[in-house]
Amino acid sequence: GFRGIVIEQTVDGGRIREHSAELRDLPESFLDGSGGDAPVDVDVLYSGVNYKDGLAVSGKPGVVRTSPLIPGIDLVGRVSASADDRFSVGETVVLTGGGAGEATHGGLAARARVSGDYLVALPEGLDARRAAAIGTAGLTAMLSILALEHEGADPERGPVVVTGAAGGVGSVAVAVLASLGYRVIAATGRADSEAEYLHRLGAAEILDRRELSEAGPALQKRSWAAGVDTVGSNTLVNVLARTQDDGAVTACGLAQGADLPGTVMPFILRGVTLVGINSVTASRELRQRAWERLSSDLPADLLDEMTTEIPLDDVPARAEAILHGRVRGRTVVSLAE
Ligand code: NAP
Repeated sequence: GFRGIVIEQTVDGGRIREHSAELRDLPESFLDGSGGDAPVDVDVLYSGVNYKDGLAVSGKPGVVRTSPLIPGIDLVGRVSASADDRFSVGETVVLTGGGAGEATHGGLAARARVSGDYLVALPEGLDARRAAAIGTAGLTAMLSILALEHEGADPERGPVVVTGAAGGVGSVAVAVLASLGYRVIAATGRADSEAEYLHRLGAAEILDRRELSEAGPALQKRSWAAGVDTVGSNTLVNVLARTQDDGAVTACGLAQGADLPGTVMPFILRGVTLVGINSVTASRELRQRAWERLSSDLPADLLDEMTTEIPLDDVPARAEAILHGRVRGRTVVSLAE
C-alpha cells in the first residue's frame, strides 16, 4: 500500500453536501482504472500545493469532479511501469494539470497512475524538487511571460506590474521578469512582511495592492508597459487602465474575484491587449518551451528562496492558508518513502 490524501464528496444539485479530505493508507488497487488506455505508473517524489489544491482539499467548489479523488494537480516522480511507449521505467517525469487532481487521481500520494499525454520528461538542468517547486504556478507564470513576449514585450518598453506578487505564480513571474532585465513593479497586500522578499526576487518597486483593488476611472495614468495579473476583478481592470499604449496584460487568476467590472476604453483608446492564460489546455509544445525557459531563466537560488517544503500531513492546513493568501511563494510536498 501507499499513503495519500483522499477527498470524498457527495454532491447534490451542483452543491457539495458532504466533504472530507484525509490522509489514508491506500491499497495499490485504489489506482485501478486510472490513467486511460496506456497508463504510466509513477512513484511520486514531490507534489505541491497550488491555489486549486487549496480549493479542492478545503471543500470549495469548482475543482473536484469525481469522488473519491486523490487531489494534487502537480507531481514529479519516477516511472515504475509504463504502457505508454513515450516513457520508460526509471525516467523522472513531471505532470502539471491535465485534469489530475480534478477529474482523475493526482499527485498528493506516494503513487500515481496517469495518462502520458500530460507528462513531460524532467527538463534538463532541473532536479525533481525544483521542478515540483515550479509546478503549475511556475509554468503559468512562464506561459504568461511567453504571451507578453509574443505581444512584443521588451525591457526597453517600460516596467511590468505583477499582481499577487508574493503568491506562487506572482513570485515566479517577478523572479523571471527581473532576471530577463525588466523593471518589475510587485503589487502585494503584504508589503509589511514580504517587501524584502520581493526585492530579493528582483522587484524594483513595491505597490500596495489596495491601490488596485477598488473600482477606478476607465483610463488612468500610464504606469507600465505590461502586466501579469493573477488576481482578476477590479485589480485586473485597474492594471489595464494603467497600461501604456499598445501594452499587453495577461490574466490567469481570480484571487480577488472572477468578475471583470471594467470598460473597453484601454482596448479601444490605447490599443491594450488582454491575453488569457490557461496552463491546463496549453499544448504540449508550448508547455515544453515554457519548461525550457524556466530552466534557463529562473535562477535556482531564487526558486529555492521562494520554496517551502512540507510533509503530506501538513497539506490540509496549507490548503486553508493558501486560500487566505497567507502562503509565500511555492509549497512542495515531499512524498519519497
Ligand atoms: P497563491 O499562491 O495563493 O497566490 C495568490 C496571491 O494573490 C496571494 O498570495 C495574494 O498575493 C493575492 N491575493 C489573494 N487574495 C487577494 C485579494 N482578495 N485581492 C488581491 N490579491 C489577493 O496562488 P497561486 O497558486 O499563485 O495562484 C494564483 C491565481 O492564479 C489563483 O487564482 C489560481 O487559481 C490562478 N492560477 C491559474 C492558472 C491557469 O492556468 N489559469 C494556473 C495556476 C494558477 P499578495 O499577498 O502578494 O497580495
